[in-house]
Amino acid sequence: MTKKILVTGGAGFIGSALVRHLIENTSHHVLNVDALTYAGNLSSLDGVASSNRYAFQQIDICDREAIAAAMAAFAPDVVTHLAAESHVDRSLDGPAAFIETNVVGTFGMLSAAQAYWNGLTGDARENFRFHHISTDEVFGSLGDEGAFNEATPYDPRSPYSASKAASDHLVRAWHHSYGLPVLVTNCSNNYGPFHFPEKLIPLIIIKALAGGDLPVYGDGTNVRDWLYVDDHVRALESVFEKGVPGETYLIGGRSERRNIDVVHVICDMLDRVQPRADGKSYRAQIVFVGDRPGHDFRYAIDAGKLRSELGWEPRETFESGIEKTVRWYLANESWWRPILDGKYQGERLGTAAPK
Ligand code: NAD
Repeated sequence: MTKKILVTGGAGFIGSALVRHLIENTSHHVLNVDALTYAGNLSSLDGVASSNRYAFQQIDICDREAIAAAMAAFAPDVVTHLAAESHVDRSLDGPAAFIETNVVGTFGMLSAAQAYWNGLTGDARENFRFHHISTDEVFGSLGDEGAFNEATPYDPRSPYSASKAASDHLVRAWHHSYGLPVLVTNCSNNYGPFHFPEKLIPLIIIKALAGGDLPVYGDGTNVRDWLYVDDHVRALESVFEKGVPGETYLIGGRSERRNIDVVHVICDMLDRVQPRADGKSYRAQIVFVGDRPGHDFRYAIDAGKLRSELGWEPRETFESGIEKTVRWYLANESWWRPILDGKYQGERLGTAAPK
């Protein structure tokens, strides 16, 4: 069935992958609502922007009146809420924006969705979904063993993860208190094309090509569970199409890698496809730097519920996804070069942390 899907944060990394997927592979109509912060980049949507099933409105989700008006005018069947401040290092330097967008902004989205849903009747009311997209970081840090699942208690450690945890709780409260048909997903680290080059994988690729140091936090043994962004997007689609309102689903590909191993895989792939002029390995550029404060040791996701109840499986292995990603950055300098040359506002481009 063709649906109208309001995507917040559709100019960001995962949101733009979701919008591209919805326009290219479904008959759904999409309204992309995004404030276009430093992380929002409409050129990630060049391939779909001319579709008559796609529209964009520049709105800050904290502007409740504007959000309510957009919702009333578009009349969505589904709201997928991805807009957020998303970078841990930035949250350490300036937490206020994270509280504002991730907590207050999510409250504004819920208020608008609730008012909109209250006005619906019949099938439109029955079928409406508010899908909140969140992170595995809300669960804190694991030791060497085990994996997060839907029953894992919350234990956020950074201003970013605390603000996402707060937003998850608000979303569930709107279900329990007001009956709003919500879905919550918590996903592991994503990577892939159109990823803003402050995050580990694009940062390493771009710095390696530029001949600079590849700085890795601590001793590089922190572990993250990596998922190719298009696999995340297909999981999101499964959840808002088939998920049970009020339920939470964890998303992850069981691709755990130590940060240093991620950097090695990228260097080795670049050695094969674009060797350095001096014949040395890109590994020669790796430099270890002081650790991030409160750096969580390990994240891992048990996505068994999503697999068994909704039939989702990732398509990419870590190696196949990294290969696609490296090749995309090599072929698309025109996308990332302007970010490095002018638009990028972050002074911390330079430390290899996952997110
Ligand atoms: P991103 O930083 O690439 O994109 C965020 C988007 O939100 C940008 O387009 C930005 O302009 C927009 N935005 C920020 N503040 C806004 C505001 N106040 N109003 C409207 N728009 C605003 O983030 P991402 O990596 O694509 O992550 C998207 C969502 O997925 C986030 O909620 C994040 O917490 C979650 N998530 C990310 C990952 C990951 O690995 N990147 C993993 C799990 C969950």
